[in-house]
Amino acid sequence: MSRILRVNMTDLVAKFEEVPDKYKLMGGRGLTSTITCDEVPPTCHPLGASNKLTLATGIVTGTSAPTSGRISIGGKSPLTGTIKEANSGGKAPQKLARLGIKALIVEGQPKEKGKFWLLKVDKEGARLLPADEFVGKGLYETFPRIFKKFGQDVGVIGIGVAGERLMSMAGICVSDPENRPSRYAGRGGMGAVMGSKGLKAIILNDKGGPGVPIANKEVFDTGRKKLTAALREHSITKPGGALNTTGTATLINVINEAGALPTRNFRDGRFEGANKISGETINEICKQRGGVGMTGHSCSPGCIIRCSNVYPKPDGTELVSVQEYESVWAFGANCGIDDLDVTGELIRLCNDYGVDTIEAGVAIGVAMEAGLAEFGDSNKAIELMHEIGKGTPLGYILGSGAEITARTLGVVRYPTVKGQAMPAYEPRVIKGIGVNYATTTMGADHTAGYTISSEILGVSGAVDKFILEKADLARKFQHTTAFTFDSIGHCLFISFAVLDIPSALEGVVEECNGVLGTSWTADDLIRMGKEIVERERAFNEAAGFTRAHDRLPDFMKYEKLPPHNVVFEVPDEELDKVHAP
Ligand code: SF4
Repeated sequence: MSRILRVNMTDLVAKFEEVPDKYKLMGGRGLTSTITCDEVPPTCHPLGASNKLTLATGIVTGTSAPTSGRISIGGKSPLTGTIKEANSGGKAPQKLARLGIKALIVEGQPKEKGKFWLLKVDKEGARLLPADEFVGKGLYETFPRIFKKFGQDVGVIGIGVAGERLMSMAGICVSDPENRPSRYAGRGGMGAVMGSKGLKAIILNDKGGPGVPIANKEVFDTGRKKLTAALREHSITKPGGALNTTGTATLINVINEAGALPTRNFRDGRFEGANKISGETINEICKQRGGVGMTGHSCSPGCIIRCSNVYPKPDGTELVSVQEYESVWAFGANCGIDDLDVTGELIRLCNDYGVDTIEAGVAIGVAMEAGLAEFGDSNKAIELMHEIGKGTPLGYILGSGAEITARTLGVVRYPTVKGQAMPAYEPRVIKGIGVNYATTTMGADHTAGYTISSEILGVSGAVDKFILEKADLARKFQHTTAFTFDSIGHCLFISFAVLDIPSALEGVVEECNGVLGTSWTADDLIRMGKEIVERERAFNEAAGFTRAHDRLPDFMKYEKLPPHNVVFEVPDEELDKVHAP
């Protein structure tokens, strides 16, 4: 029987509750967003006592379903002011699920300012322990010390100094299978929410835990096998396929070729140094330098796609895991830097300080636009990252995200929606992703509706990227994502197989039915995704958001982007059609 663990940081009490009937068939984002809607006042301050941080594993997380080790972390975002869900892989999510915990709700705030705690959860229960010895420390120091103290087999979810300082670009870090501080529920400043609760880290030991109950093992196994076969067949997800060999950064050359790789703070759609920071080059460097360098690394146990990597220094020792597409782009093309050793160092600093690589890279790009550094100046970019780590006044500005950085430094061209930095796809070229950036409940977020699958990769039927009528496509992707990818517990990257191979989707439905004892169809998954998005939009409306917020930055409507020389000319009426009643 799964339970909810509720931790009150004011009284320092952790208690287990029965799962209410209405939550029993939920998981992941569906559950974090529903609990946020039920328990968090939409107008509250995101870093005040009324906000709550909810962690929920997916429906099949903790089972033997392939590539299913995800956790959703949600609440009200200090970066956007909207509802937020960010999700991550890593070693810890399966441990939370196998401890029989469906959701962990963190509420209240410590009475003593500046005091931080560890939450230790095992089969005996949950308790809070003082975290004084870890406060103010980077995660490359904190995580090894936690593993030394509590055992190498635990899973850890924690925050760095940026979260302790309530910076709006702070993410929540999840330990990977080798106990690195490298996987992130990065977006929207959820690390600051965790910091505002005085919670430094959650330590999960699932030894002797009850595991995840499966109502119908035969149905579950049938589904699991169908999905596994499809993932092993699809050209993007199969062993030796694109994700497995060159990782997500395989997209650098693809998106650059499409003229949609945002370059030097979204001034160009092509970067002359793209190939030097591509997935192909990461693969080559890993082979040439040897040592610990590898592609085809798995970020969480049970992933059969294995898109992650461990990037080596020239001497073969480890620089960082992971150089993935968004991070390499944010510090690479977006800052005019064409050196993977530099992007690797900047990503390592993000892992250490506990910040979102996308928000950090875009904030530094904005700072370069303001004249604090030349585009392409690697040393200055690293210096700016250190400002965040040191907590200087400039560091606090940068740490507040790209939009605050721009407004403070007098920059008019800043690529954000609802306060959140855009990821690595130019909306002036790929119109559908622009429609999604404008209209998701989370601000600019590619994972909330990854239309790149259709508009660039030709998955689920190719769609012309330049066509303006994208409301139907955006809605379809947003609804599918909210449940099928964000609530069930699979990594988003199963989507290529699920959208292209009918038996993969059947398999996902059967996995859920097997775990929950339901008799859902594929249509039910879409219906529930729609309900999640509608619930989230209702929260945002109550928080003061209107359709006027579902828009892209003004400069993208008049500034032509080379090489296609296009603006974002999707009419407002088309944007409003996405969520029209
Ligand atoms: S596909 Fe990549 S990101 Fe997804 S779970 Fe596997 S290694 Fe992690």
